[in-house]
Amino acid sequence: MEEEDDIDRRMQFVLALRRHGVIDRDVLAAMETTPREAFLEGIFRERAYQDTPLPIACGQTISQPSVVGLMTQALELDRRCKVLEIGTGSGYQAAILAKLARRVYTVERHKPLAQAARRALEKLELANVIVVHGDGALGLPEQAPFDRILVTAAAEDTPRLLVDQLRIGGIMVLPVGQTATVQTLIKITRTEDGLDYADLGEVRFVPLVEGVASDVSK
Ligand code: SAH
Repeated sequence: MEEEDDIDRRMQFVLALRRHGVIDRDVLAAMETTPREAFLEGIFRERAYQDTPLPIACGQTISQPSVVGLMTQALELDRRCKVLEIGTGSGYQAAILAKLARRVYTVERHKPLAQAARRALEKLELANVIVVHGDGALGLPEQAPFDRILVTAAAEDTPRLLVDQLRIGGIMVLPVGQTATVQTLIKITRTEDGLDYADLGEVRFVPLVEGVASDVSK
């Protein structure tokens, strides 16, 4: 019985993704086969298949699944891609990226989150993700250039340092906005001549904060 409930929940989950415009088959398959509860704690695990953001440690949030889907879809990933994610949070988005790309580097400023994400990703045997504790506002110059960059925290403006780490022909997706409550998701394609911008709609993300966090060590 429980198993049937589980199948039903997952079916509803995929339907909700489709309703929100996530139609890429590979993205849907990656999301269907990634257990979101593995990135949540305590009572929130029960709500893993609801299309809603949920609290994680350090006052942060795991993103809404349909937003994860739309951002992943906008990245147009393939197996050859080297991807940089800023804002590891729970590690859920990184897990989806890992299923669709060659290698994923993900940077988180809260050490406890970076550690928990690393553990969750290891448990799922996703060996092509590297979690880095650091300031993602600086990117990861030692691994640049990247084929794709995804920022999962909101900046006031497009961070120039990150654009500089994007390969020509590469795609970057990020929420940009002047307010803390609502931002615009944008897709930037770096061409030979400059940058192309596309507007993907309104989203709500926690802010991109400069510097590593001074968490009490655990
Ligand atoms: N992608 C995450 C959700 C991210 S919430 C998931 O799938 O769960 C945004 C995350 O960005 C938070 O964990 C926050 O701590 C982190 N963040 C904010 N500013 C940052 C910065 N400058 N460098 C690295 N991480 C940052």
